[in-house]
This record gives sequence, C-alpha cells and structure tokens, in this order.
Amino acid sequence: MGIIRAAVHINGIVQGVGFRPFLHRCAERYSLAGWARNTVDGVELALEGEEDALRACLAALPAAAPRAALIESMDWDILPAEGLSGFHIAASDPGGVRSTLISPDIAICPDCKRELFTPSDRRFRYPFINCTNCGPRFTIIRALPYDRPATTMAPFQMCPKCAAEYADIRDRRYHAQPNCCPACGPQLRFYDADGQALPGDALKSAVSCLTHGGILAVKGLGGIHLACRIDDPALIDTLRARKKRDEKPFAVMCASVEAARRLCGVSAEESAMLESPAHPIVLLTKKDPDAYPALSRTRELGVMLPYTPLHCLLLSDGPDALVMTSANLSDLPILSDNAEALRALKGIADGFLLHDRAIETRCDDSLLRVLEGRPYFIRRSRGYAPAPLVLKEAQPSLLACGAEQKASFCLTRARHAFLSQHIGDLKNFETLSFYERQIAHFEALFDLRPETLVCDLHPDYLSTRYAEERSARDSLPLLRVQHHHAHMASCMAENGLSGDLIGLIWDGTGFGPDGSTWGGELLCGGYTRFERRGSLLPIPLPGGDRAVKEPWRIGTALLLSARLDPAERYGAEAERVRTLLSLGLNCPQSSGMGRLFDGAASILGLCDHASYEGQGAVLLEAAAIDSPRALPLAWIDDGGLRRFDWRPMIRALYSDKTAGVPTGELAAAFMNTLIVMAGELCVSARKATGLDRVVLSGGSFQNLYLMQRLPEHLKKLGFGVWHHSRVSANDSGLSLGQSAIAAHGGEIYVPCSTSETDEDRRQ
Ligand code: ZN
Ligand code: ZN
Ligand code: FE
Repeated sequence: MGIIRAAVHINGIVQGVGFRPFLHRCAERYSLAGWARNTVDGVELALEGEEDALRACLAALPAAAPRAALIESMDWDILPAEGLSGFHIAASDPGGVRSTLISPDIAICPDCKRELFTPSDRRFRYPFINCTNCGPRFTIIRALPYDRPATTMAPFQMCPKCAAEYADIRDRRYHAQPNCCPACGPQLRFYDADGQALPGDALKSAVSCLTHGGILAVKGLGGIHLACRIDDPALIDTLRARKKRDEKPFAVMCASVEAARRLCGVSAEESAMLESPAHPIVLLTKKDPDAYPALSRTRELGVMLPYTPLHCLLLSDGPDALVMTSANLSDLPILSDNAEALRALKGIADGFLLHDRAIETRCDDSLLRVLEGRPYFIRRSRGYAPAPLVLKEAQPSLLACGAEQKASFCLTRARHAFLSQHIGDLKNFETLSFYERQIAHFEALFDLRPETLVCDLHPDYLSTRYAEERSARDSLPLLRVQHHHAHMASCMAENGLSGDLIGLIWDGTGFGPDGSTWGGELLCGGYTRFERRGSLLPIPLPGGDRAVKEPWRIGTALLLSARLDPAERYGAEAERVRTLLSLGLNCPQSSGMGRLFDGAASILGLCDHASYEGQGAVLLEAAAIDSPRALPLAWIDDGGLRRFDWRPMIRALYSDKTAGVPTGELAAAFMNTLIVMAGELCVSARKATGLDRVVLSGGSFQNLYLMQRLPEHLKKLGFGVWHHSRVSANDSGLSLGQSAIAAHGGEIYVPCSTSETDEDRRQ
C-alpha cells in the first residue's frame, strides 16, 4: 500500500452549501492532504494519502455530504503522489464563464434547531439562527458574488463571536453569509392592527394574537404569510372573507410530523418530503375526509413544517398547527415588504410579526404531492428555485418566456436550465412587472445573456408580448413554440429523453397552429417536429371565457351535444345556452381536456361555478372512489386525426347519474374511461408510427387518480412511460420545454397526415 493521489470532479449543487469545508473535514478525518476549489460546474478536489484511507474517504463521501448539497456525478482519476501536505481551499477556477450557483433557501437544520431550544446556547430562542447547512439564500441575495455585502444582511455587522465562526473552517458557520446572533443580527418587531409598533416581547405578542383568535401577518423567507388557528371554522371564514379568497384551499403549518399525523395520514415518503431541506407544502390525505371543510373542500390538506427558526418558535409557544397562507390580495404577488404589508393588510391582519431583514426576492411556498417517492409539483418555488436543472446536453443561451396564467421563465446556459420560481398570473399588472424584474434579476445574478428568445404561439399571452418587445429592443431572434409541444418537450427534457416518442398532453387550453384551441392531445414527434394524431371532439364553450368560470355552461353544452335535454339538470338557464349554441354566438370550441373535466364535474353536481381555474377537475378527482366502472367510448376519424367522441360517455354518465349511481363512482368511471381512451389512442399511434415511449404532461395530469393508474395501464400495453418530477406538469413547467425545442433549432409542425388523406380523397 503506497501513497497515491486522486483527482476528483464532483458535479451538482455543491456550491454555497458548505461543501468545501465538508471536504476539508473529510480529508482530516482520513488523514489525507489536498485541496478543493469551485469550478464552472462543480467542485474539484485533490486528495493524497494512504491508498486504503483515500479509497475509504471517496466511498464515504456521497452519503456524508451536507444536506443541501446534491451530487449529480462524482468521478476521479488515480495519479501518482505529488507530495501534498495539509488541506486548503484553493481559489476558484478562474477559467470559463462565471457560473456560481445560488442555493435555494434551506429550511432550518437539525443542529440549528437544537441550538434554538438549548438555554445555554448564545442563540437560544434567536429567530434568525442559521448556518452553512440552512437559512435564507436566494431570497436575500441582491447580486453576485454571494458575499454578505451583496445580500439583505449587509446592514448587519457581524460581532466578534460571529466573525470568528465565519472565519473558522472547522465551524459549522464557516463562510455562512447570513451568520448572525442576538447581539448583531436582525430583530423582531410586533405591530398592532393599526400598524403601531408595540414595545416588549414581539413573539409573545404574536402568540397571544394567535391564541386569542387573531389573524397574524408573519414575515417568512420569501414573503409574508397570514396565520391563524385551525380549530375555529368561523375564524377561517373570516380570513377567507378578508382575503377575498373564495374556495381555494388553505395550507397548514404543523409543528412536527407528529402534529401533522393528528390531521392527516403521513407515509414514510411523505414525511421525508416534509422534512427535506426544501420543506415544501405537501398535499396529504386527511385522516377524516370530512374534517376541516373550512380549510379545504377536498380530502387533501396542504401541510408544511416550520422552515424558519421564527416559525419554530411560533409553533412551539403557540398552537401546534396554524393556517399559513400567502399574504396577497386576490391573485397579486405575495407581499414581501414591511411598509407595504402594513398598508395592504390593514383591516385583514390583527397583528404583524415583522423583522428588519429585507426580502430581496419574493418566493412562494412550493406545493407538491409525493408520487413514487419523488416530488410531483403543482408549484415549484421556495426551496427549489433557483437551483438549475442539469440537462443531458449543453444548450445555447436562451430565454424561454413561459405561458401566462401560471407564468415562469427559463434561462439556459450550457447544461444548466435556470427555471424561475412560481410567478403567478401575468394578467395582473403587479405580477407582470414582478415577472419582468425577475427576468432581469436572474440575468444579472447568473450573468446570463440570452441569444435567442422563445415564447408561446399564443399571440395574446403577456409573456408573448414581453418576448416580442424584448426581441425588438435587443435585436434578438424570437421563436414561437406550440403550447402542447412545449409541454411534451418539458417532460422529455427533464427526463433526458431524445428521439421521437408519443406525447399525451392534457391540459385546459393552448393555442393550436391552426388557430383553434387545443388541450386533449396526442402528439408524435420529438424536439424538432411533431404531428397531432389524437385529440378530443371539440367542446363548445358557450359564452367563451365565461364558460371556464361557469362550468354549468359547459355541462349544458355537453348534454346538448350528446342530444340530451339539459333542462332537467340546469333549468331555464339551459335555454340561453341552447340559443347561443344554435346561433353559434360566442361559442368558441376547444379540445381542452380541462374543459371536459369542467363539464363532467358540473353534470355530476360537483361544480357549477368555479372560484379558481381547474376547480371542477380538483373536486371531481376528490369525489372519486376506487371503482373499476367505466363508460362507453367512441372515435371519430377527422382526416387522419383520431378524435375521442365523448358523447356516448356523457350520455351514459348522465343516465347513470339520473338512475342514482353514486357520484363518487361516476367520477371514477369518468376518469377510468379517459384511461381506457388514452390506452387505445396510444396503441393506434404505435400502430401508425412504431413509437412505444409515452410522456405525460399538461395540467390535467396534476390529477393523482389518473397518475396512479394511467402509467400502469400504458405499461401493461407495452409502453415505456415517463412523467414529471422536477418541474410541474402544468403551465409553470412550460418554459423548460420551450427552451428545449429552441435549443434543437425550433419546431416544424406537420399538420397531421391530412396531406396524405387529401391525396387519398382525390384519387
Ligand atoms: Zn443550520
Ligand atoms: Zn453576532
Ligand atoms: Fe398548458
């Protein structure tokens, strides 16, 4: 056994998470010499010492890495010894572009939590305790390089004790930029309902506000929340009324997994997700499906654990479960500024628990379900953004502008795709300006200079308008990508797939190249071209946009299309729709799967008026029991495009409903029919093209009933099936797909096989 040297390359999220000090400790533990430095795409490590010890160190490294680190790959070469001694952190690799990655915000770590509740610790009950393994990152960074002066911690000068920790490589707070303590860091302040700062113990006042049934505004990491007790339905109704949030579910923050278990079933996988460094809101199944109707009208409840020390204190001194909802008015961005919150939440909050560490970047809580042990995102935001997705192949520098209602953008450079946090609906002026400022912030922060812009084909999306203006202003080429093709490419890109395959893309709505509205599509192709082989029989939307908010209109239209009399179900209102339909007045058509869900939910009596987009689908999924029942289905050949004819299904659904079949069983039957339909459609696409891989994307696949059954069904039919786990299936994941398509040189839309069919017809 001799002395050898290993040259190690580690890629992934290994910067800004205490990784080099960790390597230093590893080297010391195994008595190895060497150095570590940050490089363009990770960390470079040199280790030298006894071969046995060196190999043991390398083997132990991945499992021992800091909790916020994510090792994507690690490889090494064994070389002759160089006679290194000691271990040091070398200057970062100056070569190449600046590529420092910014860590997402990280929930309080177990070490800090222990110190927080240790009376002898100098940070005992200090609400801003953090270390290299935890604390604010993305939300406090103003610029790079990531040093304290470039963060909102700049006004706080470290005291000698904190400064000593900061400088000591053996310390958990070595180079922890937000490091602070009660002597030198931010402080809490409590304000009453009138916005007057009260003297005394701010936390005590806040806890008393909560326990006495008040609504408390609390400053978190990426924004301000409204909190209140969960055990008083009248209080929750008050919050709903003051916030003007009709029926959208509220999330709950529970003191611990045990506290969460009192409300919901929590599997081992879900508990691991709740406690992961991101601490997202996880949708869990209520123990009693009918409990807490004021919080959510479905069987699920969004639950998260305290992710800041302040939350920990609040939930340990006060109730062990609190409503915790973003403080925003209607659909505006989450509030983040103290003065703004005091002004905007006057009359809404009964007290304010604020502090003097500013929030630079708004970031909502991430929202997800656990599917096969991995995240299945509804909203990918705090704790995930701005960590880049590592792509299989390098991409040119692009800016993909996303959709409109669930806006996000994606900037790429080499193998990194920087996907923004959840932005919201651009139709609000405030949200649109937040979107534009975030693009500028990301570009400055990561030193990204897009050479090409990509947007949706929809001419009226505000993200499209932004792209057009930017393209003109900066003389950048602009590519337009079809919505569902982008969904398909998004799922391909995050799974590292290439070549041709089948995309089953179900969502609410998207602009088709033919000018019509798509949304229940089967596409065949890859990044550079696609053809549309399957769809739905178009659904009339009486009243246009109003039909989306009033699903009873779609229900009526479905019944009429299926030659049923809607009067019995919808009364006199149905007549107005009949008139609109017969005159063809303001009745655009859509092949959107979301609209079929809306209509079915209404026919089943689950949702006639939607207070948020997709509510019909949410309630239909929530109502479904586990049942094998399915309904009849039929097909129409539309010039080579196979369209699912939903009329027989609607007829059966309605007659079963009238015959008294339970709603839960019919909700299941409806979705089972869609699963059978999808299978038949994929099989016919495979017959025609030979393709046997399927990606599932689009907002309709946020439906867990479908996701727990459809992939299985397709696999039984012999397909390979992929779905999302790194970005959302809904429109907030769209920008990743747009960028992937543009990176491959743009798209060519093949208008189905209509050309052949036309020829056939002529012959
Ligand atoms: Zn910590
Ligand atoms: Zn200090
Ligand atoms: Fe979509």
